[in-house]
Amino acid sequence: MMTEVEEKYTERYKEEQRTIECPFCGKGKIDVTYVYPYMSWNVSRISAKSKRTKFYHDERYEVHKKCPECGKSRKEIKEALEQGHTKRLSHEDRIKLWKKRGLLLVLAGQN
Ligand SMILES: [Zn+2]
Repeated sequence: MMTEVEEKYTERYKEEQRTIECPFCGKGKIDVTYVYPYMSWNVSRISAKSKRTKFYHDERYEVHKKCPECGKSRKEIKEALEQGHTKRLSHEDRIKLWKKRGLLLVLAGQN
């Protein structure tokens, strides 16, 4: 279950220039920078031991101009793109879900 989610994230930051169709009118060509979902490590030191924590960054769009056809702003386009692609649980919610599931399994196992 963990790997299924994690394989989507690369360990390296990667971005790509793309020209996409406006999500609102489908006619305007929009230049965007697409940032792939990636994870990074945060190292924190707790009493001489260092602890590595994974950080998940969801895919992201940087919109460079507003739509020349319908005039939607960069912000509106960005939000539409990101919501369209991130219609799912945040990583924290996923962890909560896993924990809950794990807990249920534990409880079931005790019967
Ligand atoms: Zn448009």
